[in-house]
Amino acid sequence: MTEQNNRFDGPDENGFFGKYGGKFLPPQLEKPFAEIIEAYHRIENDAAFIAELRSIRKHFQGRPTPVYHARTLSLTNGGAHIYLKREDLNHTGAHKINHCMGEGLLAKFMGKKRLIAETGAGQHGVALATAAAYFGLQCEIHMGEVDIAKQAPNVSRMKLLGAKVVPVSHGLKTLKEAVDSAFEAYLADYENSIYCIGSVVGPHPFPMMVRDFQKVVGIEAREQFMEMTGNLPDAVCACVGGGSNAMGLFSGFLNDPCAIYGVEPLGKGGKLGDHAATMTYGREGIIHGFKCYLLQNEDGSPAPVYSCASGLDYPGVGPEHCHLKDIGRVEYVTCSDDQCREAFFKLCRSEGIIPAIESAHAVAFALTKAREMKRGTILVNLSGRGDKDLDYVIENWGLGDAAATA
Ligand SMILES: *Cc1c(COP(=O)(O)O)cnc(C)c1O
Repeated sequence: MTEQNNRFDGPDENGFFGKYGGKFLPPQLEKPFAEIIEAYHRIENDAAFIAELRSIRKHFQGRPTPVYHARTLSLTNGGAHIYLKREDLNHTGAHKINHCMGEGLLAKFMGKKRLIAETGAGQHGVALATAAAYFGLQCEIHMGEVDIAKQAPNVSRMKLLGAKVVPVSHGLKTLKEAVDSAFEAYLADYENSIYCIGSVVGPHPFPMMVRDFQKVVGIEAREQFMEMTGNLPDAVCACVGGGSNAMGLFSGFLNDPCAIYGVEPLGKGGKLGDHAATMTYGREGIIHGFKCYLLQNEDGSPAPVYSCASGLDYPGVGPEHCHLKDIGRVEYVTCSDDQCREAFFKLCRSEGIIPAIESAHAVAFALTKAREMKRGTILVNLSGRGDKDLDYVIENWGLGDAAATA
C-alpha cells in the first residue's frame, strides 16, 4: 500500500514504467479495467481497507514472516552471510497469498461476487481459491487440460477450497489458452466478477497493484534485518518469474545503498526454448496486454520456455523489472537447473528447510555471490516451500547423496 513512497514508485497515469507496461486491451475490456483502476485508487488509502488487510495478514496468513540467519549454510559455503526472508512460512506456503488476499479484499470492496483467473502450474489458482473461500466469493480457475493432468494435487486443492476448475481443451491446452479462456469468461460477466492476475504482469493496474500488495515483504524484511544486524544488507536477491516476490522484496531497498539482483531460470542452457531468462535473452514485445522484455520467435510471437521450476517459466516479465534493468538499478542474472538442484539439497541438509524449486534459484545465486563477496551479508527472498515439488524432485533428482548412502 502507500506505507512507503519513493522515487521508484511508478507507474505514470497510463501504467508505464519508463517505456514498459501500459494497457493494450481489446476495446470491450477498456471499461472493466478502468473500473478496477478507479476502485484501486479509491481503496488504496482507505483506512477500513488497510486495517482489514493488516488484520488478515496477521491472523490468517501468519505475518510477519521471520528473517532467518542461515548460519550453517553461510559458514560451510564461505564468504558473505546469507539471510532468508521466510515467505515459505505464509499460509499456503508461498508469497502469492500476499496479493491474492489483496485482490480478494478489493473484490469485496467493489461488491463483486466472483474471482476469475487462469493458472499454469496451479499455484496461483490455489492461492486465489484460498482467498475466495476466506471472503465467501465464488472462484473460477481456467486451466489447460495438459496442466490439469500434470498438476493433479493442485487441482484437488482448488476443488477442496470450493473453486470451479474450467478445463481448456483447445490449442496446446496450456497457460496461453487458459489466459484467453479466462479473459473471455471475464468479459462475459464483468458486472459480477473481477479478473485476478497472479504476478506483477498484465495490463495496468495489475503490475502496480500486485507490487503494492507484495511490498509488505520488503518493508518487513528491511526492519527485521536492521534490528538483527544493525545494518542494511550489502545485497538482496530474489527469483524472477513474472516478478512479484522480487518486486515485493526489492521495493523495500531501492532507495538504499544495496546491490539488488533478480535471478532468472537458465534451465538447460542459453538456446531459445531451453530457458526462461527473459531479461538476458528477450527483446521488447507485447504479451497479455502489456509491453516488456519478451522471449519471442522471429515473427514476434511468444517463444516456448522451459525451467525445472514451473513457477518461473513465463516468456514475459513484469514491466517494472524491465525499467529497473534499463536504468541500471537492478542487475538480472541467471541460474541453471543444475545450479538450482545443488542449492536445493544444500539448503535441505544444512538448515532443515525444503525450499520451492523457484526459490532455490535465488539461493543458488546467493551461494555463488557470497563466495565472490568474501564478506558482508546477502538477504534472499525464500518465496515458497518445497512440499509441492517433492514428486518432481524424487523422480528427477532423487533424494541426494547422504540419503543414498544411509
Ligand atoms: C509463482 C512462484 C514464483 C514466481 O512468481 P513471481 O511472480 O516471479 O514471484 C516464485 N516462487 C514461488 C514459490 C512461486 O510459487
